[in-house]
Amino acid sequence: MKPLSEKILSVPASGIRRFFDLVAEMDDVISLGVGEPDFVTPWRVREAAIWSLEKGQTTYTSNYGLLELRIEVVKKMRERYGVEWDPKSEVLVTVGVSEALDTAFRALLNPGDEVLIPEPCYVSYAPCVAFAGGVPVAVPTRADSGFRANATDIASRITPRTKAILLSYPTNPTGATMDTAGLQAIVDVCVAHDLYIISDEIYDRLSYDAPHVCVATLPGAYDRTILLNGFSKAYAMTGWRIGYACAPAAIIEVMMKIHQYTMLCAPITAQIAAMEALRRGDRDADEMCADYDRRRRLFVKGLNDIGLDCPLPGGAFYAFPSVKRFGLDAETFAEKLLKDERVLVVPGPVFGDGGVGHIRCCYATATEKLQEALRRMERFVGRL
Ligand code: PLP
Repeated sequence: MKPLSEKILSVPASGIRRFFDLVAEMDDVISLGVGEPDFVTPWRVREAAIWSLEKGQTTYTSNYGLLELRIEVVKKMRERYGVEWDPKSEVLVTVGVSEALDTAFRALLNPGDEVLIPEPCYVSYAPCVAFAGGVPVAVPTRADSGFRANATDIASRITPRTKAILLSYPTNPTGATMDTAGLQAIVDVCVAHDLYIISDEIYDRLSYDAPHVCVATLPGAYDRTILLNGFSKAYAMTGWRIGYACAPAAIIEVMMKIHQYTMLCAPITAQIAAMEALRRGDRDADEMCADYDRRRRLFVKGLNDIGLDCPLPGGAFYAFPSVKRFGLDAETFAEKLLKDERVLVVPGPVFGDGGVGHIRCCYATATEKLQEALRRMERFVGRL
């Protein structure tokens, strides 16, 4: 047989998978592993989707997505951030933020173009850049600066091949958030070096301590930003596979071409559900967010009480404590914790070198489970 694609083979499989394979063979595991809400999609959203099926709405839609949904996206962005896009030409409805990311990179990159990616970060960014023929360039961030990227580190990695930067606040896996000044300094570097900004703001609604700053609103950013967002986290809709991109029309046009030939359109039932979420789902989203906030405080305090140093993360639903003081690397810590006490966490290096010595714990799980996980972790670290 002839060899498969070298480009794809050269990208390693996600380090998370090994842990999920281990769990599949075990009982009684408390999983703080998967980054997924433990809520089901709000009833009103499910009901809108069921009703659409009863009415027989089962067709393709416009390649861009239903215009009514794009109008709702624009309305929500205007309400929340005062930023404006044209629903007809500057919004593309995608199969989750995942497809939007892939499409954005493919729309922007020529072979060898570099994309700066602050790390630790979501596992898909670097592989998607590589699949699109680009070169991911890590910009490490540090625990002592709250895992926030800074403009000087970013500027120092710019070369003549740098095409874009990926920003994602609040951040998976660290829960880091950014204020206006920090983001503006990065945008200024992008303007000075004519870089595109891909801003994955999927956790925007899960900003607990300060209002989220939408990158596209910052002076200099709008014309060079592809803003990505979706429904998986804020509305507990991971299984619906629905998201969107907002960007200048010339970029959306190119992204649409890829989307048209690969996906054709996002599923109509998910689009109708997403429309309902935007129209009437604010209260549900706020309630879930308040619940995550309660769990965040409880869980992070619990971690610190048992000796896992963890500053309170400002957003998303992850804690990223240090395990350095226990003398085990993060992979060994996570593997032993799983085997000895049946608690699943993800080792930080899976998210990039900046994650060395840390573990990611997703606290979007029931309070009783979080409390039991803390008891098990206390027993575990007590033996180290
Ligand atoms: N972006 C980030 C930062 C994520 O954490 C995730 C999922 O964990 C995604 C994108 C994927 O989102 P979606 O379900 O909309 O494809």
